Amino acid sequence: MKGHLSSKKSNIGKVSSDEIPSPSDSSRYGSTVSLTGSINSLTDDDGENDGNVRVIVRIKPLNAKQVRTEESESVQVISPTQILVKGTKENITKNFTFSSILTPEVSQADVFEQSGVKDLIDKAVQGFSSTIFCYGQTGSGKTHTLTGPPHLFGDRPDPYSEDHGLVYRSFVYLYDSLQGHEDVTFTLKASFYEIYNEKIIDLLNFGTNQQKFLNVRWSRKFRGFYVENLFTVQCDEFDDLLAVLEEGMRYRAVGFHNMNEHSSRSHTILTVHVIAESKDSQEGVFISRHGKINFVDLAGSEMTKKTKSHGKTLVEANNINKSLMVLGYCISKLSEGKKRNSGHIPYRDSQLTKLLADSLAGNGVSLMIACISPTKYNFSETVNTLRYAARAKRIKNSPVIVM
Ligand code: ADP
Ligand code: MG
Repeated sequence: MKGHLSSKKSNIGKVSSDEIPSPSDSSRYGSTVSLTGSINSLTDDDGENDGNVRVIVRIKPLNAKQVRTEESESVQVISPTQILVKGTKENITKNFTFSSILTPEVSQADVFEQSGVKDLIDKAVQGFSSTIFCYGQTGSGKTHTLTGPPHLFGDRPDPYSEDHGLVYRSFVYLYDSLQGHEDVTFTLKASFYEIYNEKIIDLLNFGTNQQKFLNVRWSRKFRGFYVENLFTVQCDEFDDLLAVLEEGMRYRAVGFHNMNEHSSRSHTILTVHVIAESKDSQEGVFISRHGKINFVDLAGSEMTKKTKSHGKTLVEANNINKSLMVLGYCISKLSEGKKRNSGHIPYRDSQLTKLLADSLAGNGVSLMIACISPTKYNFSETVNTLRYAARAKRIKNSPVIVM
């Protein structure tokens, strides 16, 4: 599988925007037959895996400058699931508990092994919607965790790099796990877009599209939202998946003058649809399942506090604030194992939650990786991130907002 990263750099396979039901919904294909596993296990809260949502923490290592200047650390991991955060005043100490805490030494490969991403991919193959979110302040390692450092998408990407993030590793695992199913035909399709200031930018059709921003529409047929005219690429080969990743990352980098500033204010969503078709051997019935996996690199959470912002920045901050807040509600509901119609969740309040609503509903499985920087300088952002992550997992009786 390795060695393919650079071979199809600008060849994005076949493109269509209409073939995929939008938004995808496994229930469209019936929900009683599972190709490789039991559907029921999804809705059980099995303790260890926290039901349908798992929240873990990744602590970024100090960078060379911070090590040189002996910048003091605010974070102490006191057990595999417990973390202490200390402020500059030693008496301010906060204690949090999560399913799993990935310490700074944990490599990219081990993040993939330990975060439970394989389970999410397995669910997507079975026809469910899986979503991986990276949440945290700018510079806390969200993009590094998902896609790896920018040099992987430059002129000479290294296919053997240890730095590859969850997306590349997931592609390898997904592609491998689709081999050897003789009775099932799998089709993979992918899209990659960005939500900037509540506007949708297609990262696979950037610049060539007359209309720079795409519209979000409601589909009565599928009872959900979708992005109209979004490029959706059929990925017959492993290389096609990589081309989508590379192309999107490259457009992202060239499209915006100040990449860091821009990326801190936008959410990116890379979706891989897994469509499985098989014939039931006994009944001779044709069965089709549609699962998917979303990789979501969220806007910097520090924007939520920019109360001094004004003009454009204030609008951006408000939009980010709202989308992250609504997302928090949705995930907390999901973590309680409730179905979408069991409470009023304000999905419609942000583009992010509108477009992820079908994934966040009853059948979805999610992983939130809360990324933190361990220095004392970042103490309050770290506490905010951990609070958000803890709330996403545990809130009971969250405020009811009617759509
Ligand atoms: P974010 O996407 O949250 O703004 P980045 O992923 O861009 O943050 O990370 C900020 C910087 O820190 C980048 O230079 C990145 O390569 C580096 N970095 C982040 N996490 C790690 C890590 N686990 N190991 C080494 N470097 C990291
Ligand atoms: Mg980033």
